[in-house]
Amino acid sequence: MRILVVEDEKGIANFLRDGLKEEGFAVDVADDGKKGLNLSNENEYDIILLDWMLPGISGIEVCRLIRKNNVSVPIIFLTAKDTVQDTVFGLETGANDYIKKPFAFEELLVRIRVQLRTHEGEQTTLTIGDIEMDIDKHVVRKNHEEVSLTQKEFALLEFLLRNKNKVCTRTRIIEHVWDIHFDADTSVIDVYINALRKKLRGDDGTNFIQTVRGVGYIARKE
Ligand code: CA
Repeated sequence: MRILVVEDEKGIANFLRDGLKEEGFAVDVADDGKKGLNLSNENEYDIILLDWMLPGISGIEVCRLIRKNNVSVPIIFLTAKDTVQDTVFGLETGANDYIKKPFAFEELLVRIRVQLRTHEGEQTTLTIGDIEMDIDKHVVRKNHEEVSLTQKEFALLEFLLRNKNKVCTRTRIIEHVWDIHFDADTSVIDVYINALRKKLRGDDGTNFIQTVRGVGYIARKE
């Protein structure tokens, strides 16, 4: 899952980036409205966290412009404004939710998960064969036994399972699992795929992550 954070306060932006990365998200940060708008046009984000007060174009305006392009990505406002009127106005511009600063990271995380779930009809448990992935608890089990994955492995597996039985091209994998600082050497995907295959191989030696030559990967159980 890839997140765009549009926030001009460096401290908050860094706190969000680090925290969300730790949760396995790919995170891009923009420190003003214009950059945020450009990034949202260039990339396909799964969710956008948008500060209300931004230099240049305000968060409200960014939200309006994103919706004008008919993009339905979930948007959560980060706002110090807390009057009822402001909140209603924010939601009317097309935001999905808002959270008042200062907020607890855990609460933000819950709201992000709710939006992803609502938006994508997201299940909190993804399964394939004897593999079970509990997104909320951040746990993967094979045959009911917990398997330890790195954050990136977890994010990659989540993306593959959300697209179960569909081919995931290398480009889409990169777009949704890695952030903008990724240096375009897509062979890193193979490294993570191999790690996942090793950890999640079936007892009979079969593997549900299959290579689609020249294109990407597919999670499929024969
Ligand atoms: Ca601000």
